[in-house]
Amino acid sequence: MAKKRILITGAAGFLGSHLCDRFIKEDFHVIGMDNLITGELRNIEHLFHLENFEFYHHDVSKFVHIPGKLDYILHFASPASPIDYLKIPIQTLKVGSLGTHNLLGLAKAKHARILVASTSEVYGDPIVSPQSEEYWGNVNPIGPRGVYDEAKRFQEAMTMAYHTFHKLETRIVRIFNTYGPRMRLNDGRVLPAFIGQALRGEDLTVFGDGSQTRSFCYVDDQVDGIYRLLFSDYTQPVNIGNPDEITIKQFGEEIIKLTGTKQKLVYHDLPVDDPKQRRPDISKARAILGWEPKVNRTEGLKITYAYFNSLPEKEILHKDF
Ligand code: NAD
Ligand code: UDP
Repeated sequence: MAKKRILITGAAGFLGSHLCDRFIKEDFHVIGMDNLITGELRNIEHLFHLENFEFYHHDVSKFVHIPGKLDYILHFASPASPIDYLKIPIQTLKVGSLGTHNLLGLAKAKHARILVASTSEVYGDPIVSPQSEEYWGNVNPIGPRGVYDEAKRFQEAMTMAYHTFHKLETRIVRIFNTYGPRMRLNDGRVLPAFIGQALRGEDLTVFGDGSQTRSFCYVDDQVDGIYRLLFSDYTQPVNIGNPDEITIKQFGEEIIKLTGTKQKLVYHDLPVDDPKQRRPDISKARAILGWEPKVNRTEGLKITYAYFNSLPEKEILHKDF
């Protein structure tokens, strides 16, 4: 029987590349697409020799054409770290809006099911905790994070509109902070920032007083949640994340312990609109997908640290912010 064909946008990025691996493992024909604006080919080059893997270097904010049949689309293309989307705000708005529109159109033309990557950022700086899918959020549309948050909110609205108006098969995952191998050491997110600093013998930069919280999910758990959601019948948004909440100060202390660095925490200004608390309510994922995270932070951080530690020294020393 012919293999099911899946298009994964953002394939050369952190999550996209792990999704490519998972769908190859499940015996799909995987078509990766990426414009490499924040991704790296080395994340997927181990797949290039496979017959059931293809790669298109393409910007999905421009018309997307794929020859042949398509069964599924995972739309993961988008800058995802605050310093990335602050550097490329217009591309961020375009990939969440125009890019999403192009892929919904492609899904409609191919009668494919599409899952879009949304984010906990749709809840903005939340005033309820934990955040359940019913919470409408607290987003500043014109603040520096607005380009990402509003693009993702528009993405959700557009996806639901295609679902209700065109009867398209759609899924929406709201991803909470996820980490693991293949994150970019210089992408500015807190985990690569802290580990990079520890490896270079620099102090760890905590923004604000470090009392803000995040809840970190290991990438294999995230990929499994996304996989289950794609094959479920559920069309409303679903949170996927690890509810184990920690302050950024405690997180810095954990990284100091993990890496054995002699450096200390130093405090810098808190970025504008930085959410004060973030923790997913995963009751829906538990009930509907039978999913919950399996990898605890100690285990996940160990694997991730080993990955960063194995990078060439010149890459660890090179800071390009
Ligand atoms: P990433 O930056 O590693 O990957 C994003 C990929 O998309 C990159 O390879 C980039 O080159 C590509 N891309 C960006 N714009 C594109 C365009 N116009 N056309 C084609 N490719 C384009 O980020 P990530 O952490 O892997 O995030 C992937 C997706 O998951 C994003 O949509 C992001 O919003 C979402 N997400 C991630 C997290 C997380 O914790 N990692 C949390 C919430 C949501
Ligand atoms: N952060 C920090 N030091 C850093 C980078 C980030 O204290 O060097 C903080 C940041 O202000 C935020 C949290 O860590 O409160 C998580 O930031 P990240 O950029 O990883 O993702 P966010 O969840 O804010 O999108």
